[in-house]
Amino acid sequence: MFQSTSPTRFDLRFSIAGIPIRVHPLFWVIAILLGSNSNNLLMILVWIVVVFVSILVHELGHAFAFRRFGQPSNILLHFSGGLTIPESLPWGSGYATVSLTPNQHIFVSLAGPFAGFALAALTLAVGTALGGQIILSTLLGFIPFPIVLLPYGSGMLNEVFLTFLWVNVFWGIVNLLPVFPLDGGHVTRYVLIQSDPRNGLRTSLWVSVVTGGLLAVTGLLVMNSIYMAFLFGLLAFQSYQMLQGLSARRY
Ligand SMILES: [Zn+2]
Repeated sequence: MFQSTSPTRFDLRFSIAGIPIRVHPLFWVIAILLGSNSNNLLMILVWIVVVFVSILVHELGHAFAFRRFGQPSNILLHFSGGLTIPESLPWGSGYATVSLTPNQHIFVSLAGPFAGFALAALTLAVGTALGGQIILSTLLGFIPFPIVLLPYGSGMLNEVFLTFLWVNVFWGIVNLLPVFPLDGGHVTRYVLIQSDPRNGLRTSLWVSVVTGGLLAVTGLLVMNSIYMAFLFGLLAFQSYQMLQGLSARRY
């Protein structure tokens, strides 16, 4: 969504299963800002670790899905979250990326949120193995949301488990919303392009504008979250600009 992610000498670089990963220093700054509503230093640290692991697992979901279709990729964590970037392969006398079918694109997009849901399920399993009890709570007051409560005396550990579940379930659901360029926006685009090759792209952008706009208003008025309002307002506006771009090319 935002560019300006050139390499810096403060980048953290490593790889997992042959997938190169680069963490831009601004990633940590944003993670600290998002966690700074807690005044407990240990909780901010827990938050940063949970966000780091969760976004990494989400992007690894995309990267392994790409690999399944013969497409190598690398992962970048930066200040607006994570990105899985397909790498060019030698092809003929030049370079090219693997051309995925619409269904393969949909699979790659869904692999991110579902890797997060798998991590949430693992969190529940580990919590249960530690003697915790699973109880059903609700997210935003209406989405069923399982949490695991560890035996009395594990206050801090309970927070860690709750944060892992919250981040992976809530962000997984947010990512599945049909708003471009979230994963759900990509899925909507490829579903609609398949059913209507001529106007599918345009329809998917309208879905993105309307859903993004409604979520911005809901975020502000119902969830009282300026962050949600700003994020979805910006994404709706970007989709609207893309629509204008489509119209400009049509004469
Ligand atoms: Zn994703």
